Amino acid sequence: FLAYLEQQRCETAASVQEFPFKKKRVRVLSKANDVGENCPGGVVYWMLRDARVQDNWALLFAQRLALKLELPLAVVFCLVPKFLNANIRHYKFMMGGLQEVEQQCRELGIPFHVLLGSAVDRLPEFVRSKHVGAVVCDFSPLRGPRKWVEDVAKALPKNVPLTQVDAHNVVPLWVTSDKQEYAARTIRNKINSKLGEFLSDFPPVIKHPHGEGCKKVKPIDWPAAYAMLECDMDVDEVQWAKPGYKAACLQLYEFCSRRLGKFNDKRNDPTVDALSGLSPWLHFGQISAQRCALEVQRYRSQHKASADAFCEEAIVRRELADNFCYYNENYDNLKGLSSWALQSLEAHRKDKRDPCYTLEELEQSLTYDDLWNSAQLQLVREGKMHGFLRMYWAKKILEWTATPEQALEYSILLNDKYSLDGRDPNGYVGCMWSIGGVHDMGWKERAIFGKIRYMNYQGCKRKFDVNAFVMRYGGK
Ligand code: FAD
Repeated sequence: FLAYLEQQRCETAASVQEFPFKKKRVRVLSKANDVGENCPGGVVYWMLRDARVQDNWALLFAQRLALKLELPLAVVFCLVPKFLNANIRHYKFMMGGLQEVEQQCRELGIPFHVLLGSAVDRLPEFVRSKHVGAVVCDFSPLRGPRKWVEDVAKALPKNVPLTQVDAHNVVPLWVTSDKQEYAARTIRNKINSKLGEFLSDFPPVIKHPHGEGCKKVKPIDWPAAYAMLECDMDVDEVQWAKPGYKAACLQLYEFCSRRLGKFNDKRNDPTVDALSGLSPWLHFGQISAQRCALEVQRYRSQHKASADAFCEEAIVRRELADNFCYYNENYDNLKGLSSWALQSLEAHRKDKRDPCYTLEELEQSLTYDDLWNSAQLQLVREGKMHGFLRMYWAKKILEWTATPEQALEYSILLNDKYSLDGRDPNGYVGCMWSIGGVHDMGWKERAIFGKIRYMNYQGCKRKFDVNAFVMRYGGK
């Protein structure tokens, strides 16, 4: 499968230089006029969100620039000792993927550097000391990475331009829409009408011909990198998902060949293995959603409904989540809700919560609901929860906690602590949808929820074999 992907890229375009790069994927964050003069350090791709070598528009753009100016190319990742509440489960997955990036960069003669510390402390210093001429970064809509980019843009030498490429979305976020969209129905056509232009094949990142390559680059001291981590070490690694691009491709291959046929009909049934399971790799940028969509579309003649349903999730819904987080600074708190939802939750603030659980009771799966407890156990053990149950899980947290603020806080906290794909726009929007009606509409008014859509155990029983799921995870 990996060889087939490689061949696909080579057939697409002999070289990234000849490829008609879509300039709309790129935006200039800080300008400079004299790139290419006195900059033996060449072009640097500052990798943030898209931690892969191939199928990465940001690295492709950086290489294209370096080829045009006949300059060396390098990739830099800044590793911080802690990031929000990411723990060793997340760090191992991320760093495992980066070890593969190092190896693939080496094969292509592109030096890869991991700088220990925050980007603003380490990257400008690196750029100065190596006489780098231009920096290209990728894009995340979340406030942490946005602040890093803003700070680095200010701290870079004035003659070094910083450009940003949206390498995560199929249609670049700033092309799709310049405002917060209400719902999937308002963004769908804005995205789908542009897929003809943007859902294109990738050219390969090629062996870089300029500079000294990796001859003088020391291998990364991974034990030292692990030693500087200050994150929570108590959440175990998961076994089912191995980090990195190759494991991601295997997951994609298995999904297309074994599960895609079931995706449309069975994706809301947690007892059936019908989903892609790709979200950890997508979250860490170890595989591109565009690659997944391209591959799934090859099966469209056999599985039309499933291929379309997958693209709706992996493109439209995913890019809607990026849109929300980018245009709404309150993407993870109640201030970010629509006024109808906020007013409705407010009107029911005093409704009695019975039972009302503590964070510890939720975390330890100690509710009265065996389905909820089983879903929580799945999250803790496997670092994932089935997509359908995620909605049920978060809505029950609204029902069982003292205030909507607490419900949102607990759901984000537990999701981000245990889920491998946590701290993602999809996660913030998933919690805000479940608890605050984001991208949804008002429903029949009821206690606690107000007009927020309600889900219950009986509804789940009608949809799937709840007992079979409970038996599998053993929730009491
Ligand atoms: P598939 O069903 O195979 O879909 C393929 C891809 O499409 C996913 O990997 C994902 O990138 C995207 N996708 C699927 N469903 C959605 C959706 N509803 N919204 C946006 N994109 C979607 N997703 C995360 O990536 N990280 C999270 O932390 C996260 N937390 C969530 C919390 C709650 C309360 C809810 C309701 C949803 C959350 N989601 C999250 C969205 C969704 O549930 C997951 O993306 C999906 O379950 C991942 O499994 P999969 O890769 O097998 O998905």
